[in-house]
Amino acid sequence: MKMLEEKILAEGRAMGEDILKVDSFINHQVDPLLMKQIGEEFAEHFKDKGITKVVTIESSGIAPALMTALALDVPMIILKKQPSKILNDDLYQTVVTSFTKETSYELTLSRKFLDENDHVLIIDDFLANGEAATGAIRLIRSAHATVAGIGILIEKSFQPGRQKLTAQGFEVYALARVAKLGKDLIEFLPEE
Ligand code: 5GP
Repeated sequence: MKMLEEKILAEGRAMGEDILKVDSFINHQVDPLLMKQIGEEFAEHFKDKGITKVVTIESSGIAPALMTALALDVPMIILKKQPSKILNDDLYQTVVTSFTKETSYELTLSRKFLDENDHVLIIDDFLANGEAATGAIRLIRSAHATVAGIGILIEKSFQPGRQKLTAQGFEVYALARVAKLGKDLIEFLPEE
C-alpha cells in the first residue's frame, strides 16, 4: 500500500536491523486518515470471505482493526494482555512471547464473544516471528471459531512469521513488506 510505505519512509525509524519504530503514526500518535484507508484496504481484500468478526491484540492493532470492522460492518474484539488472577471459566487464555519486549504475556478472550459460528479476520500492526498471531489463532480455535485470514500493516519479511503462518495454511495479507532494515535504511519487497 503506497500510502503506508510513504509514511514509513517519511516517519519510520529503524532501530538497528530488527525493529522499526512507527510511534508517530501507529503505536503512540495515530494517523486517523491512514487508519481509515488501511481499514478500507483490508475490507476490500477480505470482503468475500464471510467474515463475522475482526480480532486484534491490544493495543497497537486496535485502530486499524476498528476501521476494518467498520468497513466490513462487523464487531471488533480486542484480545487483552492481562494475567488472570484466578482461574476463570469465562475466559480462554494462552501465553505469547513478546518480540519487542523479550517477555511473555497472557492473552485473554472472554468466552461470550466468539463461538463456532464465527469466521474471524485477525488484524495486527506488525508481523515478526508470528507469535502474537499464533496466540490469537489458538484463542480463536479454543472458541471453535475459524480463521478467515490475517491482515498485517507491516510485515518484516526477513523474520519467519509469514512463513510459519502460511505453512499452516493461513492467508497473510501485508500492506507493507520490509525486506531490510539498517542505519538510515528501510527497504520494501514489491507489493502483494
Ligand atoms: P511477533 O509476535 O510476530 O513476533 O511480533 C509481533 C508483535 O510484536 C506485534 O504485535 C508488535 O506489537 C510487536 N513488534 C514486532 N516487531 C516490531 C517492530 O519492528 N516494531 C514495533 N513497533 N513493534 C513490533
